[in-house]
Amino acid sequence: MAQKFQNYIGGSWSDSGSGKTFENRNPANWEDIIGQFPLSTAADVNSAALAAAKAFKSWRLVPAPARGEICRKAGEIMLRRKEEIAAAMTREMGKPLTETRGDVQEGIDTAFYCATEGRRLFGYNTPSELSNKLNLSFRVPVGVCGLITPWNFPMAIPTWNIFPGLVAGNTFVFKPAEDTPHTASILVEILIEAGLPGGVLNIVHGAGEVVGAAITEHPLIRAVSFTGSTNTGRIVAQTCGKLSKHVCLEMGGKNAQIVMPDADMDLALNGVLWGAFGTTGQRCTATSRLILHEAIHDSFVEKLIQRTQRLKIGDGSVDGTEVGPIINEKQRENIERYVGLGKKEGAVCVLGGERPEGEAFKNGWFYKPTIFINVLPNSTIAQQEIFGPVLSVIKCTSLTEAIEITNSVDYGLSSSLYTKNINDALLAVRDIEVGISYINAPTIGAEAHMPFGGVKSTGNGHREGGWAVFDFYTEWKSVYIDYSGHLQRAQIDV
Ligand code: ADP
Repeated sequence: MAQKFQNYIGGSWSDSGSGKTFENRNPANWEDIIGQFPLSTAADVNSAALAAAKAFKSWRLVPAPARGEICRKAGEIMLRRKEEIAAAMTREMGKPLTETRGDVQEGIDTAFYCATEGRRLFGYNTPSELSNKLNLSFRVPVGVCGLITPWNFPMAIPTWNIFPGLVAGNTFVFKPAEDTPHTASILVEILIEAGLPGGVLNIVHGAGEVVGAAITEHPLIRAVSFTGSTNTGRIVAQTCGKLSKHVCLEMGGKNAQIVMPDADMDLALNGVLWGAFGTTGQRCTATSRLILHEAIHDSFVEKLIQRTQRLKIGDGSVDGTEVGPIINEKQRENIERYVGLGKKEGAVCVLGGERPEGEAFKNGWFYKPTIFINVLPNSTIAQQEIFGPVLSVIKCTSLTEAIEITNSVDYGLSSSLYTKNINDALLAVRDIEVGISYINAPTIGAEAHMPFGGVKSTGNGHREGGWAVFDFYTEWKSVYIDYSGHLQRAQIDV
């Protein structure tokens, strides 16, 4: 009998009013059922929003350092439970334990970072243009926030939002992805143990089109943070726009790694293997285009094929696995559709392009690391986000051309350049249109205390991570204190 999980609303665990549930299965072995989770309704979201609005009244008055203290305790609990959380995460979303440990570590780093931020949350003070007048500006919480997250970073992404949002004084209605409800439930347990009062964080499980849509539409929810696909992000943005809500969008990427002839080739090779096939290519920052200078193209491709062939595909809970399964059948079929399109449009598939065969793979959604060469920069597989282990290799003749190709997509999340030429490196940092730019490192590897997000269709100008996320989770309040004892009128000459 599969374990039964519940929503957490207003400080207690409860089933959905619908009485219905959905199953969560292990993508490496679909016979392994992790649990039954509530298939919630808009009525459940309403209960959660009411609880969060009620809790906001007192939570906003708790001093920010005390709110930070709860994050610190949560970080300590996560540290203690790190191995267990990583195992649960691997079981429900497939990436190898080495990576799920890193995902939990990102949550721990964010907890400790946010704990200390509770003692800063700096505002700005300026001189007044009038005499005997004091100008101050403070950050104040937004109110009830909705959080809609994807499955690929089940601990990192929720904590990037929840910890700073809580420290800033907000309360939450949280809807995790249908594929990773277990890790999200563990996070809620941790915050309860850390002493978070009831109603401050509410989790409502269920389908995006029902629970996610209800969060986006609920009048008590003042801000929505969304990470996921571009199509869904646009729906969320349209609804939030109509209702004048704050919205933070973190959507797709089509990230490129450029390799110049003067680069350290082994370093560049290790970089692309990790960037393209880490998390089975299922990261918004994954390297999905490799732009090679013609002078090193053929030799690099040859070595890349040899190294990629040696990557160990399998169940992420088994030691030594480097490439886990795809998250679900629908996504594997989507990858297959793109591989078909790549072939149809004339690119040459030199590795992979199929499911692995054998007993070890028969009950999982596995797909082989796949490499296309002769890819045209404007072809479908070079333009659209695939979200799988598919790498498109594009040839270039100069850095200028490589930068043009890099910028020729709708997205602008992450980029990477391998070179030893400092001038080329700085030029690329200046001219590549992305939110995150790496030199001599792969397109993946964000740190918790740095701003995270992208330009163009990747986002809408907000950033998660570090100090930048507080701009989303706070409003500014400007305060003028006039101690002159008479009426002073700003901007009036006499
Ligand atoms: P993916 O393809 O990675 O699953 P989605 O954008 O579909 O990306 O999902 C990201 C998150 O958005 C998930 O939690 C999902 O349930 C949620 N979601 C899906 N559809 C909607 C919607 N119409 N409104 C709000 N949230 C949604």
